[in-house]
Amino acid sequence: MPELPEVEIVRQSLDKNIKHKKVQKVIVRNRNLRIKLPNNFKKILENKKIDKVSRFSKYLIIHLPKDEFCIIHLGMSGTIHLIKHKKKNYLTNLSFYNLPVVPKKHNHVEIVFNKFKIIYNDPRRFGFFQIIKSSSNLKKRFAHLGPEPFNIRFNLNYFKNFIRGKNRKIKDLIIDQNFVSGIGNIYASEILFVSKINPNKKIKFINEKECSQIIKNSKSILLKAINKGGSSIRDFKNADGFKGSFQSSFKVYQREGLNCKRKSCEGIIIKKVIANRSTFFCNSCQN
Ligand SMILES: [Zn+2]
Repeated sequence: MPELPEVEIVRQSLDKNIKHKKVQKVIVRNRNLRIKLPNNFKKILENKKIDKVSRFSKYLIIHLPKDEFCIIHLGMSGTIHLIKHKKKNYLTNLSFYNLPVVPKKHNHVEIVFNKFKIIYNDPRRFGFFQIIKSSSNLKKRFAHLGPEPFNIRFNLNYFKNFIRGKNRKIKDLIIDQNFVSGIGNIYASEILFVSKINPNKKIKFINEKECSQIIKNSKSILLKAINKGGSSIRDFKNADGFKGSFQSSFKVYQREGLNCKRKSCEGIIIKKVIANRSTFFCNSCQN
């Protein structure tokens, strides 16, 4: 599943291509996504000029005229493909999971512009589109979610208040979108490794210094991942066809059985699957 850095790369790719462009036509093949596409979906988008594409957490936000917004969430397997009309075979995949060709099945929504079109493909249909009317409703839509790691609100006081009286595992907390938005399985493992904290540690045993480490490392690791174009798992690429390269910086994720990368540590990276999610950590330096 794409996490904040990958969705940010998709946002940059989309913004570069569709900003200030007018939607000519919308083709809906399947309305039954995680949230059913509204009946007036076509009408709301057609003949509208895209103002810009922004993002909150893992949500892409297409800004339409007159204070209207179209949210796209890629879910588990959603991908966006861009195809230029005139250049035969020219296409780019803008999303986390990539295929070298446009898939034959599951192309649920097409948004057609003058010289190109974008296709939303999603085999598992956990992704969705949602139309939001007005900025205040947009704000309300995300009100239940925690701040992004970069937000100044994600600080030590916030952290301490949030965990007070709770007794969960620290990794469960970090991937809880109500606590902090945009971090999933990959980056949670990386953040905890750099912070030298065992993912299974109960939060009642997490001290103030460790909270500060998590805050600091969440910001720096996600920023670094964005700067490196995200992580290319199964060939994630941006609109220019470039792969992300953060996967080569992984310290623990998908490194099961390999030596710990921390200098002077002789530990081995182990993988534990808890509730269908893989957690990677060093058996020696993460206490
Ligand atoms: Zn280690």
